[in-house]
Amino acid sequence: MADRQMAGRGAGDRFRSACCAGELCSICRNPAYAKVEETIFDDDPIGIRHPLTAYVCREHFRQIMGGRGVDLLEAARRQTSGSG
Ligand SMILES: [Zn+2]
Repeated sequence: MADRQMAGRGAGDRFRSACCAGELCSICRNPAYAKVEETIFDDDPIGIRHPLTAYVCREHFRQIMGGRGVDLLEAARRQTSGSG
């Protein structure tokens, strides 16, 4: 767990999961910050399948999720880890 926590500190004091290590953003090829996953709705014609996933950098994660939400998430993570 300690290795995972240490790997979680990347640029600045932002959390970055060790699961993103070595992965690149599927849009711009910068280092990955998060992994996003499709929600398969009940009325999908192929309801039983693995959802599409993609690694994204922080900037593209912000574009997808909305900047304010990402800011709030990062603030909560800092508060939880006691570093902010
Ligand atoms: Zn990107």
